Amino acid sequence: MSLYRLPPLPTIKEIIRLYNLRAQKQLSQNFLLDMKLTDKIVRKAGNLKGAYVCEVGPGPGGITRAILNSGVEELLVVEKDTRFIPGLKMLNEASFGKTRIVHGDILTYRLDRSFPKHLKKEWEDDPPNVHIIGNLPFNVSTPLIIKWFEAISERTGPFYYGRTQMTLTFQQEVAERLKASVGNKQRSRLSIMAQYLCDVELCFTIPGRAFVPKPEVDVGVVHFTPLKKPKIEQPFKLVEKVVQNVFQYRRKYCHHGLSMLFPEDQRKELTNKILKLANVEPTLRSTELTIKHFRDLCFVYRELCDNDPQLLAYNFREELRKKKLQTNPDVIEEEKNFT
Ligand code: SAM
Repeated sequence: MSLYRLPPLPTIKEIIRLYNLRAQKQLSQNFLLDMKLTDKIVRKAGNLKGAYVCEVGPGPGGITRAILNSGVEELLVVEKDTRFIPGLKMLNEASFGKTRIVHGDILTYRLDRSFPKHLKKEWEDDPPNVHIIGNLPFNVSTPLIIKWFEAISERTGPFYYGRTQMTLTFQQEVAERLKASVGNKQRSRLSIMAQYLCDVELCFTIPGRAFVPKPEVDVGVVHFTPLKKPKIEQPFKLVEKVVQNVFQYRRKYCHHGLSMLFPEDQRKELTNKILKLANVEPTLRSTELTIKHFRDLCFVYRELCDNDPQLLAYNFREELRKKKLQTNPDVIEEEKNFT
């Protein structure tokens, strides 16, 4: 038995009953009550002895307990739903004050000042003893991971401390996209954004039936370690723009999406130029492009933008929207109603 085990506590099921914590649909809450599974997720984060951990969305505290049982020095939990705070306070008492509770939104909460400064490591060093763990709702985990990819590229937020590792859950299909290699049908924007910045490990799948209430889909646990050197050394927004354009026509040849980087009057010429200079076959499909292809495309696109700064500001979708508005002003009303 570990030295760090929490004293006996009511089970998570009892906590849910005690505090009347019915899962709320609008927050996409699905709880994990099986402590074997919560332990398994936490083990995937690595050795947490003496670690400083941030858990996102602790809810009734199943994963929280597993983290506290693994010998951490401090656990910061960020939870949006106030109903969980009393149960988390109980865990704080049981862990002798090791749990810091923040009632807040992880999408806006600043993690760059959350842990002691002495934990900061050089980027090229081994990862710091700072970890992020979480079972978040699917509608939060994707925007959050994109935000954290950008933070990795800028070494800000949780990556102020160095190459902070993350162990997070995703809808199984999203987990597979994050890890998908060249030629895989799941290869997408997320695959490139994740893999140019991180070593991505698809750890295991949790069947939907393990959660209460049961979600429609299975859940994948993914572990990320930021790379010492990104595979594409260009600004995040530029990489994102190139990747997004290429994948907007996933099933077509890559030149279709790529051409949308350029205004109509220069489209043909500049698409041919970028493909030629980056040495990319125009008839490869988006899913067949390697990270090296993307790196070369980003470098050439950067050069083209350096020569003509207006290119960087060009946004095909914006142009399309304006055109639609000119032909049909009612679109504004439709869009307003839609958002
Ligand atoms: N970790 C618990 C578990 O595994 O049983 C709960 C998981 S439940 C899928 C997601 C949790 O994240 C809920 O407690 C929910 O209130 C919380 N949450 C949702 N959006 C959040 C946000 N933006 N910031 C912080 N917590 C959030």
